[in-house]
Amino acid sequence: MKITLMRAAACLALFGSAMAHAQTYPTKTITMIVPFAAGGPTDTVARLVAQSMGTKLKQQIIIENVGGAGGTIGAARVAKAAPDGYTLFLHHIGHSTAPSLYRKLAYNAQTDFETIGLVTDVPMMIVARKDFPAKDMKELLAYVKANKDKVTYANAGVGSASHLCGMLFMTAIGTDLTTVPYKGTGPAMNDLLGGQVDFMCDQTTNTTSQVKGGKIKAYGVTTKTRLPFMKELPTLAESGLPGFDVAVWHGLYAPKGTPKPIVDTLAGALQTALKDPTVKQRFADLGTEPVAESRARPEALRAHVKAEIERWQPIITKAGVYAD
Ligand code: ASP
Repeated sequence: MKITLMRAAACLALFGSAMAHAQTYPTKTITMIVPFAAGGPTDTVARLVAQSMGTKLKQQIIIENVGGAGGTIGAARVAKAAPDGYTLFLHHIGHSTAPSLYRKLAYNAQTDFETIGLVTDVPMMIVARKDFPAKDMKELLAYVKANKDKVTYANAGVGSASHLCGMLFMTAIGTDLTTVPYKGTGPAMNDLLGGQVDFMCDQTTNTTSQVKGGKIKAYGVTTKTRLPFMKELPTLAESGLPGFDVAVWHGLYAPKGTPKPIVDTLAGALQTALKDPTVKQRFADLGTEPVAESRARPEALRAHVKAEIERWQPIITKAGVYAD
């Protein structure tokens, strides 16, 4: 009886201190980890959201880029971070494909994280260096098949969205290509611009301005419908790859054990950021839009991660792609 009472008192004290902490939170700079290199699409989304959330929370949110191994190095870092609300994690669809792609992961994508909310769904484009010898998707498919030993495909490593898109693309055309992995598609884009690699599939948040500026060529969009701001660009499904439909969803997380009042504060700040006219405008310029408020919530992202892990597992097993 005495022990039970003591335990209850200890629990109350812990709860009390978490509440007190949550009431004053945040009192210092917050770090948002992005598991890819600076200058890429995930980094771009994170910086826009972090700036606006920071304004709402009256504390700066800085971005730390922890790239490598398709986002799994950054995820492992967050899984081990202190659950105090000062480490956040902005990742994308790769958080749900990594558990099936990696034989060994240093974390559990569901149980090692608190979910805060979904952020945005971003279409991808197949893009190539400016002087790539194919004028449309039909020619690109023919060229790639005929030159499979010399064509190079850039991606951000096994587990990245560009890897996933490439994997689906190669499965659809029945051809394996030489892939060139980077720590993010920011640096991959630099090499595409410089002509060192031939093509890649990446979020519109990285490709739109380069395509509009005529610096790279676009061949198709990965979603079921065409992009409202680039109507002339066909979907991959229309261009000989039926059923192709991928959008890169992004979510915001904290380490497991981050107190619920803090998670709720962060979810509120995320919802405010997604209504910020500057964020909405920048997202629109880059070919995306914020998710509806009902999806920018902890329970919505939790359910989404689970459903996506279940969705990709059989597809990845069928493709037979694994990493150690
Ligand atoms: N777009 C990258 C990917 O392939 C990641 C990044 O650099 O943001 O997942």
